[in-house]
Amino acid sequence: MAKQVAVVTGANKGIGLAIVQGLCKAGYAGDIILTARNEKLGQETLQKLKSEGFNKVLFHRLDICDQTSAEGLRKFLDKNYGGLDVLINNAGIAFKADATEPFGEQAEVTMRTNFWGTLWASKALLPLLRPNARVVNISSFVSKRALDKCSPELQAKFRSADISEEELCGLMGEFVVAAQNGNHEAKGWPNTAYGATKVGVTVLSRIQARVLAQTRAADGILLNACCPGWVRTDMAGPKAPKSPEEGAETPVYLAMLPPGATAPHGQLVWDKTVQEW
Ligand code: NDP
Repeated sequence: MAKQVAVVTGANKGIGLAIVQGLCKAGYAGDIILTARNEKLGQETLQKLKSEGFNKVLFHRLDICDQTSAEGLRKFLDKNYGGLDVLINNAGIAFKADATEPFGEQAEVTMRTNFWGTLWASKALLPLLRPNARVVNISSFVSKRALDKCSPELQAKFRSADISEEELCGLMGEFVVAAQNGNHEAKGWPNTAYGATKVGVTVLSRIQARVLAQTRAADGILLNACCPGWVRTDMAGPKAPKSPEEGAETPVYLAMLPPGATAPHGQLVWDKTVQEW
């Protein structure tokens, strides 16, 4: 039987690193590929993990904003493992509250990583999923808060059970254009770039789960979005209540759902609990 393999994006620090450690501690059976966009930072983190006894971890570079990089990882996985068993789309960015870049720029840059990057990494890697694979897209509780602040028309689209990936991509593009024109609120969007991108990640997860259920119904693949909670990392700062280890709990739980499990699938999960969208 082919060796199992898990991939974690943006894993040189923060929650991604804690997820790699959490998978090891939970007894993940296969190799765990720690990916990072910066080769040096990724290698340094890998060496530190090895010195702490985390021996199942390997490094491969992945910049989720670079489709060539995602294709390189796809080829590596295909050649060395012949498939993929766990994908954790964790990489993400957020501007600080006191950032001085114009809102339109923040919207464009945040959308490129959090939504488009997650989409491109998924497009490269989801075709490799083996039966019983698990996919976890790290979204945020902020996505639900941002959804609640959207106009009723946008809320209906984002909650729709048959919104297509193309329609979602169009909406994410419309948000960025509106943010650049300074009329996003008049057009029914919330005043948060990060929140809008994470609405995109949660809705993308619902769409991906639906497509998997339609195209690979017999394969037992489970794909969910989740929120790690508010976690002390470079992104969220030192005042957040959860440690990275605690933040990794729900993503690791979803990644380790046992073979034969049928739920959750296509949900937004936090504290290991399915949330209403
Ligand atoms: P960090 O800023 O600590 O880590 C983010 C990671 O993502 C880093 O490794 C970073 O790499 C990587 N990254 C950013 N852009 C790219 C890219 N283009 N390609 C590959 N990797 C990239 O943040 P957190 O650990 O806090 O966040 C992890 C995830 O959890 C994010 O998706 C975030 O939105 C989400 N989240 C976090 C919460 C929190 O309270 N911390 C709450 C809810 C959700 P580099 O070091 O090179 O910058």
